[in-house]
This record gives sequence, C-alpha cells and structure tokens, in this order.
Amino acid sequence: KRRQQPSTAELINGILAGNRTALSRAITLVESTNPEHTAKAEEVINGCISYANKSIRIGITGVPGVGKSTFIEAFGTSLTQTGKKVAVLAVDPSSSISHGSILGDKTRMEELVKDENAFIRPSASGENLGGVARKTRETIILCEAAGFDTIIIETVGVGQSETAVHSMVDFFLLLKISGAGDELQGIKRGIMEMADAIVINKADGDNIKKANQAKLEFNRALHLFPPKKSSWQPKVTTCSAITKDGISEIWNTISDYFEMTKESGFFQEKRNEQNQFWMMETINEQLKQNFYNQPEIISLLEQNKKAVQNNEISPFAAAQLLLNEYKKSF
Ligand code: GDP
Repeated sequence: KRRQQPSTAELINGILAGNRTALSRAITLVESTNPEHTAKAEEVINGCISYANKSIRIGITGVPGVGKSTFIEAFGTSLTQTGKKVAVLAVDPSSSISHGSILGDKTRMEELVKDENAFIRPSASGENLGGVARKTRETIILCEAAGFDTIIIETVGVGQSETAVHSMVDFFLLLKISGAGDELQGIKRGIMEMADAIVINKADGDNIKKANQAKLEFNRALHLFPPKKSSWQPKVTTCSAITKDGISEIWNTISDYFEMTKESGFFQEKRNEQNQFWMMETINEQLKQNFYNQPEIISLLEQNKKAVQNNEISPFAAAQLLLNEYKKSF
C-alpha cells in the first residue's frame, strides 16, 4: 500500500518545528529528478527561506585519507556539546558512481550519527557537479529552517568541487597532513587561495614534530599570497582528530573570523554575492538544459556538427543558426 505523501504545508511546518523526518523527506524531494517533486521542493524551500540564513556555513576539504570524517566527528561533537545544532552535508559528484564515497562510510562518525543535535546527510547524486551543488545549496536552506545553526559541508579535493563548496560557505577550511618534507608540493594554488584556515591533522604521536614543521611552511607560503578581500589573514593550526588536541582552537579561529567579518560587513556582502551567483547559475543551467533538450535543436545540432566538420559552414554561423532556431520557439 502506498503511503500518503505529506502535503507541502505539512513538510514546511514539520521542518520549522525541527522534525527530522520532514527535513529528510524534503531533502529527498530536492534531490529527485521527477518534475513533480522538483515543483514541490521549490514550494517547500519558498516556505522556509525567510527562516533560513541564520547559521554559519563551514566548508571542509582535503584529499581522501586526510581524516575528514574523523575530524568532522571530533569537531562536530565538540560543537554539539556546547549546545550547537550541527548539520553535515557533502558535495561529491562522483558519489553516483561510487555510491557515496564520502559520508557513505558513517562508521567514522559513530557519535555524530547518534547525536540528536546533529544531522548527517550524504551527497546528492548526479552526473554533474552543477546539479549536485545546487541541491546541496537548497538543502542548506532546509537545514537552517529546521534550526541547525552550524552547517558543515564536506568535499573531496578532486576536480572543481572545492570551488562549488567555496561558493556556498562563509568559511573554508583545508585539511592537510604532514608529508615527506615538501608540504607544498602537489597542492593547487587555487585551493590555498580559498582557504581561511589550513589545519594539519594527525598531529599526534611521532607525527607532532613533522606537523609543526608543516605548519611553519604553510604559514610562510600563505604570507606570499595577496591579502584577502575579507582582510582576514588565513590561519594555520595543527590538530589530532583522534586525541582531539587542537580541536577547540579551531573553533576559536572560526569564531574570530565571524566576529571580524560580521563587524566589517564582509560576511553579509559575501552572502549577497553568493546568492546572486546561485541565481545566475540556476538561470544559466536552465537555459542550457532547455536549449539542448529541444527536439529541433537536437537534430539541427547533429546536422551542423557534420557541416562544420566538412567545412560547409563556419562554427560561428552554425551556432548562430541554432540560436536563431531556438529563438523561434518562444
Ligand atoms: P577521509 O577520507 O578524509 O574522510 O579520512 P578518514 O576520516 O576516513 O581517515 C582516514 C584514516 O586516518 C583513518 O584510518 C583514520 O583513523 C585516520 N585518522 C584520521 N584522523 C587522524 C588523526 O588525527 N590521527 C591519526 N593518527 N590518524 C587519524
């Protein structure tokens, strides 16, 4: 027997009351590709939006094995212990292939999973990063409306997913471990530039000395970057997600950042910019999808690809011809 689906109003009221089942169901609608679900998700988001935005959003990135899950467990638990309500989301466009490579393995978040002040949701699946990122963006709104005041978004250090996460968070944390000496090797410049803090994890046991050395190196490297728009000087710290040494210092750094950027107005400025960016992104994506899904365009595109290949028409003229055809559909 099919269970009765909750109405839009029931979902909104449930979310605003902090009901996890309602929140999970609404997120499932956000993640669905069924147009009916998408329409309902939109209504739920609209009903929630004025209650959202009252949280802080922290992005965490690092290559697989650096200790993200273990760190989020330690960090998240330290926050819920002080009464914070923490939602952990992920952006992992590869998860549709690997069936949730990050956050899929919740065994490293044993405590947080059971914590009633925490909510953990693995990455939405999808073939493209844009789609996955948009769904996460909408999920943030729902979590905030449900009363979560600290949103943590995890991503793996591959592809463009860091840029996507950076565009939806207030604070961006790069997790590293000390390596064989040359700490800066293989690290993408763009990621260093995005980071508001670099945390060297696994600073325990025999690793402590190497971790401190790495800290010095990163500090030196960061000073060579031009100052950030926020005027914030990125911090480098060490921690151990296992012994929990250094975890509370990270929260202090993050608090300093929020105090400074809220006071200067940068916090709001950045959020406004991000909202505009997401609006434009959504328009761009819809336009593109709409264009490429038109049956006339699909066949004309094939014809013109061949014509371009055979030098029968210039690529620019072919593009123009297709765009003109598209305009006729309005
Ligand atoms: P992720 O792939 O980045 O999510 O990394 P995991 O959290 O799954 O951790 C990878 C491995 O590193 C696991 O075996 C963890 O137990 C270990 N690990 C994580 N944090 C620490 C730490 O602070 N110290 C030590 N010694 N090991 C750690």
